[in-house]
Amino acid sequence: MRFDVLTIFPGVFDSFLGESLMSKAIEKGIIDIRIHDIRSYCSDAHAQVDDRPFGGGPGMVLKVEPIYKALKDIEALPNQRNTDTEHVYLLSPRGEQYTQDVARRMSLLDRVVLIAGRYEGVDARVEEFVDGLLSIGPYILSGGEIPSMSVIESVSRLLPGYMGNFESIMKSTKDKISDVESEYPVYTRPEIFVADSGDKYAVPKVLLSGNHSKIKKWRNEHTV
Ligand code: SAM
Repeated sequence: MRFDVLTIFPGVFDSFLGESLMSKAIEKGIIDIRIHDIRSYCSDAHAQVDDRPFGGGPGMVLKVEPIYKALKDIEALPNQRNTDTEHVYLLSPRGEQYTQDVARRMSLLDRVVLIAGRYEGVDARVEEFVDGLLSIGPYILSGGEIPSMSVIESVSRLLPGYMGNFESIMKSTKDKISDVESEYPVYTRPEIFVADSGDKYAVPKVLLSGNHSKIKKWRNEHTV
């Protein structure tokens, strides 16, 4: 599966793409991630990606032309791509709430293009060229880079081979994530953790019991 990200801060993605699972998935050809610097699509000498908002108001707005040119260059304009299998999204706090269901649907696509905004946002005319606006939550970040990474990571881990077998099982059966992942509290050694204060924190006894039906019941009761 291919991801393209349009950003004015491409360097932000360096360590993310170098991280072990991600870089292995890239090496194995499970994902192909291309980061595009919007600034390189500016036609003026100063490579100005932003300008003041019409009508006044604070801050700067990312211009439409460089983003349009970048989309055209990567063949992601609506008339250049297969709109059933290749989607383009603008990251925006005004967008549709990004959820595990959206991730699951995205994981079935061939290609996802993400446009990361900055400053006061993106010239609204960019919305003419995208399939939708996506929000990763009801709060405001300074840019769309972290939201883009959230989308890429959550979709990638649903792809067969990214993490191991259970993700591919999930994709093929379209099970709910809670059927295959631990959405209950998990513990590991030591059985009793003693803090510097002397306070003791023990693992629930049932998990040490070896009684699988009791453990299953406890986990069901504690699954959110
Ligand atoms: N008022 C602006 C708007 O509604 O887009 C807020 C701009 S925000 C400071 C700068 C950029 O960060 C946005 O254009 C968007 O790409 C990204 N961003 C901020 N919060 C986000 C969120 N919760 N989900 C997705 N993207 C977000």
